[in-house]
Amino acid sequence: MAKLIIFSAPSGAGKSTLIRFLLEQGLNIRFSISATSRKPRGEEKNGVEYYFLTPEEFRRRIADNEFLEYEEVYKDKFYGTLKSEVDRILAEGMNVVFDVDCIGGLNIKKIYGDQALSIFVMPPSVKVLRERLEKRGTDTPAVIESRLAKAEYEMSFAPQFDVTVYNGDYNQAKAEVLKLVTDFLMD
Ligand code: 5GP
Repeated sequence: MAKLIIFSAPSGAGKSTLIRFLLEQGLNIRFSISATSRKPRGEEKNGVEYYFLTPEEFRRRIADNEFLEYEEVYKDKFYGTLKSEVDRILAEGMNVVFDVDCIGGLNIKKIYGDQALSIFVMPPSVKVLRERLEKRGTDTPAVIESRLAKAEYEMSFAPQFDVTVYNGDYNQAKAEVLKLVTDFLMD
């Protein structure tokens, strides 16, 4: 039976890099493309990183019960997993990987139970996150503080996940993820 792998993490933990790595390992895993009502950034394309919807369209789909889970992160900024996306991938006999926030990840795990593995990616420490944000230099000190507070809050969800991967060293974290997922898919 095809399986589901869920990745959640505070921002800056390096979750996307681990997912990209996993998709290249020939494990018959496909990425679940989420829907969002935020605007595309940079080179992002509809149907690649996300399905970009207007807030109105997103609300209509909520009303039509089209989402497995969704959240309104800020006013009119929705993110959600479409049931049709997951069903399509599973119908192809492929495993599914999700990049979702902590609440979304726990909701998906609750729905799929043992068919799903929930992985929490832990950044090295708040101190390292702070250094990364300060070095990046794109945020004011107040914004940095609010991002760090959010990261700390999100880290408190870790014990509710099946496993936590510490992302201090990328190569080590990649090896760990590969072993966890390979074992889970063979089980
Ligand atoms: P970004 O706007 O940077 O692409 O994503 C912001 C956050 O939304 C990330 O933590 C990402 O994991 C989360 N996210 C993306 N898609 C979904 C989804 O379908 N459901 C939920 N709950 N969160 C999502």
